[in-house]
Amino acid sequence: MELRENIPLAPYTTLGIGGPARYLCAVASEAELTEALAIANEKHLDTFILGGGSNLLISDAGFDGLVIRMAIHGIARDGNTLRVGAGEPWDAFVQQTVDAGLAGIECLAGIPGTVGGTPVQNVGAYGEEVSSTITIVRAFDTHANQFVDLDNVQCGFAYRTSIFNTVAKGRYIVARVDFQLTPNGTPNLKYVDLAKRFADKPQPSLADIATAVREIRATKGMVTAAPNQNGEYPLDRDPDTCSAGSFFRNPIVPAGAVAHIAQEAGVAEVPHWPAGDGMTKLPAAWLIERAGFSKGFAMGHAAISSRHTLALTNKGGAKAAEIAALRDHVAKIVRERFHVQLEQEPVSVP
Ligand SMILES: Cc1cc2nc3c(=O)[nH]c(=O)nc-3n(C[C@H](O)[C@H](O)[C@H](O)COP(=O)(O)OP(=O)(O)OC[C@H]3O[C@@H](n4cnc5c(N)ncnc54)[C@H](O)[C@@H]3O)c2cc1C
Repeated sequence: MELRENIPLAPYTTLGIGGPARYLCAVASEAELTEALAIANEKHLDTFILGGGSNLLISDAGFDGLVIRMAIHGIARDGNTLRVGAGEPWDAFVQQTVDAGLAGIECLAGIPGTVGGTPVQNVGAYGEEVSSTITIVRAFDTHANQFVDLDNVQCGFAYRTSIFNTVAKGRYIVARVDFQLTPNGTPNLKYVDLAKRFADKPQPSLADIATAVREIRATKGMVTAAPNQNGEYPLDRDPDTCSAGSFFRNPIVPAGAVAHIAQEAGVAEVPHWPAGDGMTKLPAAWLIERAGFSKGFAMGHAAISSRHTLALTNKGGAKAAEIAALRDHVAKIVRERFHVQLEQEPVSVP
């Protein structure tokens, strides 16, 4: 395991932003992970776990500690359970399951990052969430100083959250994720765009669904070029794809707030979905557009994607501070207009 010093982090993130890590190493096994943690302990360094860097806003100052890049690979099949190393690229894994005729994650095709990153925010799209198929998350518990197997309930999954990004943030380092998939399962057509697309083909294959999802995502700039073996992204990417995906979560508000928002927006209907317990989920993109922002709106080198209102992008040479300024501006105008607070989805580092 090589320990490198003073390494710029921007190439490791889909936003292409981030100052240097004081130290960076890649871990390819559980033993190397333990070794890296021992080095951090010995040198009194804070640690940060880097997956595919697709959900990060790393500061311009970088990270004054040890960044551990997750590179544990391997996919083992046991019946319909797949045990997958946390460093496996997510989209390639999805494709393998589709090719094997296993249903359950086909709608999550095209999402960048690693398998180990998916339980952290309970990745979801097009009517599916990883929490529906994850059975075990094997992780290093930095409190108990040992590897543990957490079952689905222990992971505390909910909309874009789990214990890994809430109550136990920073405690567990995911080494492997087990998924229980369904052989010959029916493809998921819950999402309206997909249902429409397959209106005259009522029984699309899993491959049809995964391909359609990737195509729809591409039209929105919501896919990105894959990183190389060292985890670095190519420099010559389409700027609309230099993002961290959706920059804001869809806000969950008391159901009673919808009428006020409709009045403020001057519309009869506000798109929304029930979120349980008298709460309602609103589309953040709709609020941003209704607050007056258009696709492509820019502040310095940071811009709202020209293809998706929810993605904040690096037009080229943007600093983290510029993305943060754009984020704060958008959130302020939405708050002033609709009294709704938008929350950032990507993780800020530090
Ligand atoms: C173009 C684009 C589209 C996207 N679309 C979606 C989408 O549709 N739905 C969705 O939910 N997300 C989406 N995302 C966000 C992102 O891809 C996912 O959240 C992804 O799972 C992040 O994984 P990662 O490996 O890149 O994690 P990173 O970005 O490297 O890390 C994110 C967080 O997870 C932690 N982490 C990562 N790996 C581990 C590990 N092994 N153990 C412990 N902690 C870890 C990090 O410390 C950090 O706190 C999109 C992003 C982009 C750029």
